[in-house]
Amino acid sequence: MIIKRKPEWLRIKKREGENLGYVKHILEDLSLNTVCEAANCPNRAECFSKRTATFMILGRECTRNCRFCNVSSNPVEAVNPEEPENVAEATVKLGLQHVVITSVTRDDLKDGGAEHFAKTIRAIKEKDPKIIVEVLIPDLQGDVDALKVVVDAKPDILNHNIETVPRLYPDVRPMAIYERSLEVLENSKKIDPNMLTKTGIMLGLGEKEEEVIQVFKDLREKGCDFLTVGQYLPPSDEHVELVEYVHPDQFEKYKEEALALGFKFVASSPLVRSSYKAADMFAASESA
Ligand code: SF4
Ligand code: SF4
Repeated sequence: MIIKRKPEWLRIKKREGENLGYVKHILEDLSLNTVCEAANCPNRAECFSKRTATFMILGRECTRNCRFCNVSSNPVEAVNPEEPENVAEATVKLGLQHVVITSVTRDDLKDGGAEHFAKTIRAIKEKDPKIIVEVLIPDLQGDVDALKVVVDAKPDILNHNIETVPRLYPDVRPMAIYERSLEVLENSKKIDPNMLTKTGIMLGLGEKEEEVIQVFKDLREKGCDFLTVGQYLPPSDEHVELVEYVHPDQFEKYKEEALALGFKFVASSPLVRSSYKAADMFAASESA
């Protein structure tokens, strides 16, 4: 059964920020992709006004086929060697103070794109070491050497999304492995014990409460610091089926459970996305 009608709490008005045109112009000029624009994210005006944006590097086509995701898996493009510098330039021009760098998954590249991530982190930090750089990385096929390349470039936060409970992986993330994703977070801390780690999970795919709590426990066992919990919204009828709209009270309950398990900061509500309020999350953890 496809659920069409959104509940009240998800019917938000799109706000058009004054600076969206300016942002678009800079992104086009430097041939950059953002998840904000590509996904037409409803939070754009808010995020840009708070000087946060999410760049998507390594192209627009993905080598994976996650069934919840709108990124296409056509033949991948050559990596643009100027992209790290262009991201850094856009970050400065847009006055971003907290920048999130994510990518498509590039299983075709020997290091999964790790060096490209590292170059991007370094390029931003060279422009201004005070800019907070959060990377939302793919699993790099569990390659610890590749992960070390990213961690050694010293991002402020290393994010890797767990996305859903392990039982649903074959349907939702058929080319990913739950344990491998946990290891990305665990190994990041092993490489650099001071690295702040973050992950995210979507709800509404048919997961049970006890399964979600078990995921939280698994994540805490790997030392994960930050957690985002949001409602899955299928991009089209071709994507994995939505089973339910989870009530905001349930999101609040998960937040309390997760905080009790020791996460430093939890953002849990229907419209939360991986990068939503990323700067607030970092700032709150710094002042804690
Ligand atoms: Fe961009 Fe993330 Fe904000 Fe959406 S929530 S506008 S993707 S930074
Ligand atoms: Fe989308 Fe990432 Fe999955 Fe690729 S790996 S299909 S970009 S969620």
